[in-house]
Amino acid sequence: MRDLAERIAPRKPLATWLYWAQYSIALFVLGFPLAVYEGFVREHKYGLSNQTLAALLIDGCKGLGLNIVLGGLAVMVLLGIVRRLPGTRHVWGASAAIVFQTILILISPVFIAPMFNKYTPLTDARIRDPILRIARQNGISATNVYQVDASRQSKRISANVSGFLGTERITLNDNLLSRCSPQTIMAVMGHEMGHYVLNHLYKLLTFLAIEAVIFFAVLRWSLAWSIARWGEQWQIRDTGDPAVLPLAVLILSVLSFVFTPINNTIVRTQEYEADIFGLNSARQPDGFAEAALLLGEYRKLDPSPLEEVLLFDHPSGRTRIYSAMRWKAENQCLGDAVRPCGR
Ligand SMILES: [Zn+2]
Repeated sequence: MRDLAERIAPRKPLATWLYWAQYSIALFVLGFPLAVYEGFVREHKYGLSNQTLAALLIDGCKGLGLNIVLGGLAVMVLLGIVRRLPGTRHVWGASAAIVFQTILILISPVFIAPMFNKYTPLTDARIRDPILRIARQNGISATNVYQVDASRQSKRISANVSGFLGTERITLNDNLLSRCSPQTIMAVMGHEMGHYVLNHLYKLLTFLAIEAVIFFAVLRWSLAWSIARWGEQWQIRDTGDPAVLPLAVLILSVLSFVFTPINNTIVRTQEYEADIFGLNSARQPDGFAEAALLLGEYRKLDPSPLEEVLLFDHPSGRTRIYSAMRWKAENQCLGDAVRPCGR
């Protein structure tokens, strides 16, 4: 693939991009059976999918196209850095990766997510107005809440906060709207506002930046070591050769696998913070417990503590229902204007 790319494009950046395009297509084709099993066979077996195989394939092709364009740009820049700044390549590589990550989060809600789903302002005042009231209570100057047609793909309930620097938005999916009580919707929205108010996105980006520095330092060292040892046999000339990409992807995959419990724990900790924020702001412990039960459709409700620490990027249903019921027992009086707390 490298030789073909270099024959077609004598200029290095374009050859890198052509290599990336071929490599992405090869990965897509080779990974397709697993993707169908995971995203179609299993999902239908659990009754969680609304998608036909054709629709799944179309979404997959859109993802592949994005990967070829955006991933290709990133790879062109990264290999350019490797070729031009050999002494400090890991530092500049990590910096570029952080910039790409930031841009991706920035443009995702505006340009990428709408390629897969339709986002519309939530117009039902009975749902929207209480959400905006809680938002204002917590210093969020939102004027709009969005809904997304997630039912195109699945029956799962979900909501999220995305974007930043002016692109941030709170979105709830149509499954949440059609399957849950107003109390549950409020509870979930309180949680999402927690992410927003507690600046979770910025904190996560800071952590990812630290991780990127570690990853690129390890990558630099392990690529140099492997190429010195097997470079000739694998026909990889040096670290600036596009043919190094599969090896780099392999090393980064192993690293991110090793980091899974750390990343999960960071995200899970933020999720728990958002849970508590949501209980305090929406004051719907029963609604929150109901949401946790519905999430049990695709998340094990009562894992062992070790399972939760290693594999869960959200608190388990058990943890969430427990904290909701404890909140209810201790703060029930908050919802009762006639009988103030402590009487
Ligand atoms: Zn969350």
